[in-house]
Amino acid sequence: MNAWNTPVERDYNRRIFDEELDDFLPAKIFDAHVHVAPANGFLPGAPFSCGGVPIMSYTYTTLAADLKLAFPKRQVETLCFGFPDPKLNHERNNAYGGGSADFRRFFPLRLLDPRRDTAASVNANIDRFGFLGLKPYPDYARPSDVPNAEIPEMLPDWAMAIAHERRLLVMLHIPRAKRLEDPLNRRQLRELCVRWPGAKIILAHIGRAYYLRGVTGLLDGLRDLPNLYYDLAMVQHWEVMAYLFRQVPISKVLFGSDIPIALAQGKSVELNHQYTYITPRPWSLSLCDENKKLQFTSFLNEQLRAIQQAATAAKLSRANIAALFYDNAKTLVDEVAARIKHART
Ligand SMILES: [Zn+2]
Repeated sequence: MNAWNTPVERDYNRRIFDEELDDFLPAKIFDAHVHVAPANGFLPGAPFSCGGVPIMSYTYTTLAADLKLAFPKRQVETLCFGFPDPKLNHERNNAYGGGSADFRRFFPLRLLDPRRDTAASVNANIDRFGFLGLKPYPDYARPSDVPNAEIPEMLPDWAMAIAHERRLLVMLHIPRAKRLEDPLNRRQLRELCVRWPGAKIILAHIGRAYYLRGVTGLLDGLRDLPNLYYDLAMVQHWEVMAYLFRQVPISKVLFGSDIPIALAQGKSVELNHQYTYITPRPWSLSLCDENKKLQFTSFLNEQLRAIQQAATAAKLSRANIAALFYDNAKTLVDEVAARIKHART
């Protein structure tokens, strides 16, 4: 169980869930965006800051315990991958993510580091562990110049050829400060989808659109792409999601949380066409409520509230809601899993 939610926070999160979310949330959840790390999976002296709380691991065992608390009375399955940090032990993190996934509840993607991986190593890893796809990251592509990384550097042709031929999922956190507002990103994303139609590209965090200007008008050149999907991880802005729900078929929308970060207390907020997080604990990405003015719930509860509000605004049906929380991701994962025959089966 995670160490950072105090018993008081845990009880309060549960109360919010019971009062506001229990009636809304379907019985089955597929969380398409979860990170895991083996015991001591981070560097000594450099733990990962989860909303301001340092962690040294995030194992499947901890995840299973946390899912019970975060989604009471729900059946939850997840798509999991390591923490994409070039400083970490790449092989060990991938071996844990793939080797400890149970393929019943927990399905793994493989972190892709184009500077350390080769076509042979990626293919061998898929054969051995049954990875359902790839998780690239801007930090792997240009470690010394992360802000200017480009999508084709994150996903070189040899990797996309594998994803295309083996019909894999690709969980894409788009690079660059302007995100979807950056025309280069939009052009390269479109080219990626068109050129590799066998790959299924999941645009993580709706293209990191945590503020309304980050999405408005920017899906026009993307929404006709049959192999592009959108995950909602850490998006807590209901108007952003309502916009997405009206712009793309609901079959393209996947619920994702970004657990474990999503289990920390706080909220993502828009301010002057930007966003930040507000948290009760100091965190490098947030403004901290140092004067203790606010009572917080988890990022996850804030996200679920916002999805509910967006679903109401966009007039989604119960079937739509069940699809975005479960069926859409389940269908994708089942399709890939059926094809990937790995050594463990
Ligand atoms: Zn993530």
